[in-house]
Amino acid sequence: MMTNFFQERDGTLYVEEVALPEIAERFGTPCYVYSRAALTATAKEFHAALNGTVDLICYAVKANGNLAILNLLARLGYGFDIVSGGELARVLAAGGDPAKTVFSGVGKTVAEMEAALDAGILCFNVESTAEMKVLAATAARLGKIAPVSFRVNPDVDAKTHPYISTGLKENKFGVPFDEARTLYRQAAALPSLRVVGINMHIGSQITEIAPYREAAGKMLQLVRALETDGIVLEHIDVGGGLGVRYRDEQPIPLTAFAQMLREVFAGRSERLLMEPGRRMVAEAGALLTRVLYLKPGATRNFAIVDAAMTELMRPVLYQAWHPVWAVTKNAPDGEKCWDIVGSVCESSDFLAQARPLALREGDLLAVGAAGAYGMAMSSNYNARPRVCEVMVDGNEITMIRAREEVKKLWETEQILSK
Ligand SMILES: *Cc1c(COP(=O)(O)O)cnc(C)c1O
Repeated sequence: MMTNFFQERDGTLYVEEVALPEIAERFGTPCYVYSRAALTATAKEFHAALNGTVDLICYAVKANGNLAILNLLARLGYGFDIVSGGELARVLAAGGDPAKTVFSGVGKTVAEMEAALDAGILCFNVESTAEMKVLAATAARLGKIAPVSFRVNPDVDAKTHPYISTGLKENKFGVPFDEARTLYRQAAALPSLRVVGINMHIGSQITEIAPYREAAGKMLQLVRALETDGIVLEHIDVGGGLGVRYRDEQPIPLTAFAQMLREVFAGRSERLLMEPGRRMVAEAGALLTRVLYLKPGATRNFAIVDAAMTELMRPVLYQAWHPVWAVTKNAPDGEKCWDIVGSVCESSDFLAQARPLALREGDLLAVGAAGAYGMAMSSNYNARPRVCEVMVDGNEITMIRAREEVKKLWETEQILSK
């Protein structure tokens, strides 16, 4: 399935008004290509659907932290969900508002806490008693008061891939539901902490609304119990995890998600927050790659391309399925079933398997729905420099990240003197 922003015209794939072969020619391959119109449309769709229900949408930076993307979202009024000091620095560099930024993650270091306290973030999403104590001590030492929310683990099954499920008891994330109330009481008694919220994040690529409803309902029970303890919260953060269509999944309509929140939290006065990542950016991006060699065989046909697991790890990491589009259509009579593989020295290095395509060496392919957790998870394994990223806006093309130079890979390394 192609989207409105990646479309075929006269046998060639376009992003907005730009033909993908033009991008390959100017910037080389592999290359990430994003559609500004797609990003903006999604950002506005979120606002339209959630307006009046969710007060602040904090984009999860880890899905795609390119400064251009963060800056576009900041300009549209978005806040941010960060999981490291590096992401905080990115948000600040992109012109994001720290007062709209929440800090998630199970292992915040003291240095990261200090940076976030200095920046004046909206809230620390605390995930354990141990972390709460370190945060309280750090804030006290700096003479500051840290705003905190606890990430509660509601123990619901988000019905997604086990590697991206986070809201089950056995996952490392969040504080156990039945310990949360005690933790809140302890936090409320610490003068360097200000209890401001509660949050959850039950997993990723979720396409059913029931787990959200169940988890939100459990969170609400806890909010009520806290009220009886005299702890009144300013916000409730329902996390991220909204799924997208890679193949045939049916994403949750944002209007239905908003409706569910209105039903669960009817009559509550806390502000609602959410932390979408994937849904904001996935379908706005594609990975452009060129076929190097065709290697048909007895059991499998391999199309070896110049992108690999280093550029897009999701297929290898989660057995994820991404659409693969031929950028220029060949006559269909040569169609075969191809495994699209990279040149990294791992048998698991593939981008797609068993795809019916008519391919020739030198052809361009586009791996679709690659805007989220694509570039963000890329690596230098096999001494592969990280690829460039370009943003298309109508017929304008802007390089938003240059291709990494090979010599930069060892810039910080040192040969022993003897
Ligand atoms: C990863 C993450 C998100 C975003 O998840 P998506 O599935 O990309 O929407 C939101 N909140 C937290 C705490 C996360 O770790």
